[in-house]
Amino acid sequence: MAKVKTAALGYPRIGEKREWKLLLESYWGGKTNREDFLAQMKELRIRRLKRLQASGIDYIPVGDFTLYDSMLDHSAAFGLIPDRFAGLASQDALDAYFAMARGASGAPACEMTKWFDTNYHYLVPEWTASSTPSLVRNPWLEAFLEAKRELGIVGRPVLIGPYTFVRLSKGISGGALAEKVLALVPVYIQAVSELVDAGAEWIQIDEPSLVTDVPAEHIELLRTVYEQIKAAAPAAKLLLQTYFGPVAHLEKIKLLPVDGIGLDFVRDGGANAEAIENSGWPADKTLGAGIVDGRGIWRVDPDAALGKLESLGSNVAPGKLILQPSCSLLHVPVSSKLETTGDLIVRHSFAFADEKLEELVALASVWESGKASARLEENRQALAALQAHPARNRAEASSSAAVRAERAPFEERRVLQQNKFKLPPLPTTTIGSLPQTADIRRARVDWRKGHIGQAKYEEILREKTELWIKRQEELGIDVLVHGEFERTDMVEHFGHLLDGYHFTGNGWVQSYGSRCVKPPVIYGDVVARGAMTVADTVYAQSLTSRPVKGMLTGPITMLAWSFSRDDLPKSEIAFQIARALNVEVLRLEEAGIGMIQVDEPALREIAPLRRGEWKEYLGWAVGAFRMSVSGVKNETQIHTHMCYCDFHEILPAIEAMDADVISLETSRSHGALVEALREEPYANGIGLGVYDIHSPVVPDAQEMLGVIRSALAVVPSERLWVNPDCGLKTRGEAEALAALKNMTEAASLARQEL
Ligand code: GLN
Ligand code: ZN
Repeated sequence: MAKVKTAALGYPRIGEKREWKLLLESYWGGKTNREDFLAQMKELRIRRLKRLQASGIDYIPVGDFTLYDSMLDHSAAFGLIPDRFAGLASQDALDAYFAMARGASGAPACEMTKWFDTNYHYLVPEWTASSTPSLVRNPWLEAFLEAKRELGIVGRPVLIGPYTFVRLSKGISGGALAEKVLALVPVYIQAVSELVDAGAEWIQIDEPSLVTDVPAEHIELLRTVYEQIKAAAPAAKLLLQTYFGPVAHLEKIKLLPVDGIGLDFVRDGGANAEAIENSGWPADKTLGAGIVDGRGIWRVDPDAALGKLESLGSNVAPGKLILQPSCSLLHVPVSSKLETTGDLIVRHSFAFADEKLEELVALASVWESGKASARLEENRQALAALQAHPARNRAEASSSAAVRAERAPFEERRVLQQNKFKLPPLPTTTIGSLPQTADIRRARVDWRKGHIGQAKYEEILREKTELWIKRQEELGIDVLVHGEFERTDMVEHFGHLLDGYHFTGNGWVQSYGSRCVKPPVIYGDVVARGAMTVADTVYAQSLTSRPVKGMLTGPITMLAWSFSRDDLPKSEIAFQIARALNVEVLRLEEAGIGMIQVDEPALREIAPLRRGEWKEYLGWAVGAFRMSVSGVKNETQIHTHMCYCDFHEILPAIEAMDADVISLETSRSHGALVEALREEPYANGIGLGVYDIHSPVVPDAQEMLGVIRSALAVVPSERLWVNPDCGLKTRGEAEALAALKNMTEAASLARQEL
């Protein structure tokens, strides 16, 4: 069997114990000086390279380490510094870099958004009319030289390709796209040439935008780009790397003038492999075969992976195959060896970044030698045990809930609900969470450590709810909330209360900047246990005659913000969660709660990367939401909430969810939504966030009144709600109170104008 190489496309930067995060925060907080900070960062970088070296993979990525975000590194290296940071940049490059990431006084941070359909956020590149990119620094060269000097590693530098860089830039489309991409070509030529001169062999150029919708004319653009780079740096071995799905126009992409192409054979739904099976692979090209899931946390199924290799191997010329994870390992925790608590079968089935590298090395050796591998045998056993786990075979999960009666059409429900709740026009409410002050967080820590008992902890939470019910009444808010004081996180909280979830001890992944999250793991069938929210909600309702909303996290969000099993389609997992939530919804109703909110902030987020697949996705996503609230009475008012997305893209789906009221985050894109609602009116109750809760600035009542007035142009007053953009968990009490006071004042001013 021919020699097969192994590679990683990228590796976590946060460190096994989140050392990276702690160091960054210590530097930002002034506790570590610049010199020590840079020295310790270097140490982390070297330690990380040593781990990669020890793993035994052949090609080690370099240049993917960063002090904040890789896209930001590119913007900085290309001199794409927005004008508001230019002054700072001329004084101190590092200060300017962090200011772009985090904002500085008078200079708001660059926009941050989700990296494709992952939970990682990148900083969006900004171009100004006058930006002409040039290579002001070559961080890839610096990283390459460091790895070579310190550890003798000939690394594989990782760059985001010019096409993807521009596709992900702010506000560039149509003709401007080609112009900007071409403007970057000399910059890439210089970066690549310097790397080749320094001794680099393979250079990995990531073009994940190729898995999204790619207009045919972009292929010609890509051809020009790579022809020019190749012509100027003929010695460079370019690996054009894609991930997160099947590549659009693979037939043409595979003929681009590069030395190798990396494809994702995990999330491609079989399409990449099928295309190669059907029409072969160019004899002169290397194939980077992503056969180990770079985004999932489970061990690879060796038989499935070897099966894929078998078919790829018969189409790729000898010596031209590189085994890789399907994408950067940035999206998984560092090592499962630190998982020492919780269900043994579950944690034995984990493979995080380090273990995935071991798997690749083992797969390569089996493929080469044909000899069995103990390492892979371990995988077989672990996965068989996981599959046989009683939690994956719960009878109650597959017995789909009885079909419940459809509710009456919205107009009928609206009248019934109005008679029941007698709300004024433009009713006011909040999104659910109220400020989680230091005393609550302290009480939670004390309770977890056993310093205070369950009863004491609950008493503290109830006192807060009581205080805030009074405050909400005093503010004149019409529909109240209990405040979600018991929740640290809207997904984790419910994960603990449902069956089928596992919580890792140390499974951290970077979300953005220094912020790391520890997503729960859905490993088994999700089914309801005891009541989750009934006691808290009923308690809050007992304190007031105004309606208190029950508050749940919806099935799509529960799925999106967790790691999940890969033996079931996502839709099936979503329906399991929906059925479990439905039990709770009906319990709340039974307990006399008249309004129930099921939040779905992640609904847009995990929509497929290609529009053609949206219909199917939205079909089951909306179906799961409807399932979660099915069977409630017409009088019971169902609310939902969504944030951070271009809602106008999914208005029909929002309509199909048929909630009685939806509250939306809109203060940052208000105009666009109002325009969309003008063109495509929404028929049910809707609250357009009247102020941005993410900003510490408290807008005055007049400003919020302006927002209400503009919304009234497209939504009649009997269906328009007044609410903030999102939950208030992260705000201080004084700020929240001041903003809510202005909000209720704005609502009453608006009512007077009706
Ligand atoms: N009910 C949640 C809260 O208010 C919703 C959070 C969210 O939209 N992300 O915190
Ligand atoms: Zn929100």
